[in-house]
Amino acid sequence: MIRAAFFAILSLSVFVGCAQKEPAKAEPTVIKANAKAKPLPMVEMLADFGIEKWEGNRSVDTVVVHTAHSVEGEPYEPKNVYNIFKKYNVTSHYLIGRDGVIYKLADENDLAHHAGVSKMADGRESVNRFSIGIELINSKIDYPTRAQYIALAKLINDIKTRYDIKFIVGHKEIAPTRKSDPWNFDFDELAILLETQKHAKEATK
Ligand SMILES: [Zn+2]
Repeated sequence: MIRAAFFAILSLSVFVGCAQKEPAKAEPTVIKANAKAKPLPMVEMLADFGIEKWEGNRSVDTVVVHTAHSVEGEPYEPKNVYNIFKKYNVTSHYLIGRDGVIYKLADENDLAHHAGVSKMADGRESVNRFSIGIELINSKIDYPTRAQYIALAKLINDIKTRYDIKFIVGHKEIAPTRKSDPWNFDFDELAILLETQKHAKEATK
């Protein structure tokens, strides 16, 4: 009898325990507010070239990954890469150094000239209009560093809190006759990092 009562209380407490968890489940998760509270660390190196100011909210659903280096001076020096962009009047929104430091070159809402004549697999042209461009400092004879992959994944996950990103493409995918970058870039590695970081973030909530 005592034993039966004990089990009855035990199962009741388990049931109550489950029941108490229910309302918490139903509460909405506010990802955007959390992301805004902790801005991603980056260095501002804003470009006054290669940009078209955008009136109103630009709709963005694509991230274009590029690689670049400087042909003048130290090839992997961010400021030298910036100067090359200036010379050709082009820019991406972000530049990631070999050490994983993210440089902000343009506001996400502005159109940046990074893709040139380009076409998506779905037929849409002028990809600059609806994309954010990210350059990784690298050359054809090198590989992006681990720090760059990690920073790129963090940056894309951060961008995803502001835009509904449906496509992550390499420059050569959208301009195959003109471009060969991102050089020696592994999209599978990026995909794994994007998922791992997302889950790590969810686990710490
Ligand atoms: Zn490119």
